Amino acid sequence: MTRRYEIAVAGCGPAGLAAALLLERAGHRVTLVERFATPQPLGSGLILQPTGLAVLRELGLAEALIARGSRLDRLYGLGAVTGSVVLDVRYAALGADAFGLGIHRGSLFEALFDAVTARGIAVETGCEIVDVENGSGGRASLILENGRKLGPFDLAIDALGARSPLLGRALRPVRQRPLAYGAVWANAPLAAGFDPHALEQRYRRASVMVGVLPIGRRPDDETLLASFFWSLKPADHAQWQARGLDAWKADVLRHWPQTAPILESITSSEQLLLASYRHHTLPVAAGHGLAFIGDSAHSTSPQLGQGANMGLLDAYALANAVNEAADIAGALERYARLRRFHVRLYQAASRLFTPFYQSDSVLLPLLRDRLVPPLARLPGIDRQLALLVAGLYGDPLRTLKLGPAFPDNPTLASVRA
Ligand SMILES: Cc1cc2nc3c(=O)[nH]c(=O)nc-3n(C[C@H](O)[C@H](O)[C@H](O)COP(=O)(O)OP(=O)(O)OC[C@H]3O[C@@H](n4cnc5c(N)ncnc54)[C@H](O)[C@@H]3O)c2cc1C
Repeated sequence: MTRRYEIAVAGCGPAGLAAALLLERAGHRVTLVERFATPQPLGSGLILQPTGLAVLRELGLAEALIARGSRLDRLYGLGAVTGSVVLDVRYAALGADAFGLGIHRGSLFEALFDAVTARGIAVETGCEIVDVENGSGGRASLILENGRKLGPFDLAIDALGARSPLLGRALRPVRQRPLAYGAVWANAPLAAGFDPHALEQRYRRASVMVGVLPIGRRPDDETLLASFFWSLKPADHAQWQARGLDAWKADVLRHWPQTAPILESITSSEQLLLASYRHHTLPVAAGHGLAFIGDSAHSTSPQLGQGANMGLLDAYALANAVNEAADIAGALERYARLRRFHVRLYQAASRLFTPFYQSDSVLLPLLRDRLVPPLARLPGIDRQLALLVAGLYGDPLRTLKLGPAFPDNPTLASVRA
């Protein structure tokens, strides 16, 4: 390492926490800045793909998370009315030891945040960031809502998520596109009869999607949990609430009667959190003395299950770029270049596939229902689908010189699609 930098990481989500750990480990002075008085995860559960797991393995956190989460072998979806298979992806197509990991957001957050605490990384809490300002030599200060200024820092990292107030400071800002469909989510015990190693979904056209994602166990509790989700337009949320929980449960049961035991544990609509989605991709994930990582650099619907994994890859790429470049400007240029292809590929794939599963289109789900079953039977397609879902298209682990997610399957370190 040529220099020891003062670095601010804004946001204690997965991308920010991983970046703080990787940069502190490389010898830089890191300060995490977060709006919450006590940093905490929001939302229910997510899938860690082999890409994200490779970064977490590098941080020494993968094994503990694998022990805590649900090993997923398969992503599986049926038409609720037709019964036809409209999604069937098996990680085994990449090798017997490949899998995704369903994880409670709390488990992922605790693993990362406990490591931050153990390393003694400074965390400034209760700080609502509203802007960033460049001083002499391009050093960046974070501006807080109360007028306070934090810094200056050699580098500020925006890991504030999809609604970052710093997006206008990107070298080439872009407009975000809100997506019509979001979802309501709740965590509940996984009912008997559900496969603990599969994400299962049911669809009617693309306007109804119900899903059950196993997400492992919480500490000191043997109950196996699942994230349960139901597609909903944020614009219809008030109306959905007004109709009441029983009317909604009747809708769900019409599409998927086996979810009855899961629905029983949902007794109030407040247990169901509304998630709204938006789509944007920064052409250059950098500003002056400022790097964008995770959802602030690229947001999308979670249909492909990549967002947190992309954020972890961004963190790894940025930390390497900072260590290898001669100065901050060089590091930002290198970081943006390292991630450009993979991010664009997956953002395009997400934009392409989302309307087949969440939209008002009549034609797209019809095509999906007709085309997916015969396509899935073509030789080699199972591997291509697994590569796509695993996040490995575009060979990101090789680009970043990152070790494999599964040490016994070294081919996954560099997979040619
Ligand atoms: C319902 C749902 C399901 C998903 N499923 C998956 C999945 O299966 N797999 C997957 O990989 N991804 C999934 N995602 C996407 C994933 O959650 C995001 O991509 C990921 O959380 C982004 O991480 P991040 O660190 O960039 O930002 P965030 O997780 O959004 O963290 C941002 C942090 O910044 C803080 N912050 C925000 N604004 C300010 C401010 N102004 N001042 C100070 N602090 C601030 C927040 O409090 C938070 O701690 C899903 C998302 C949703 C909504």
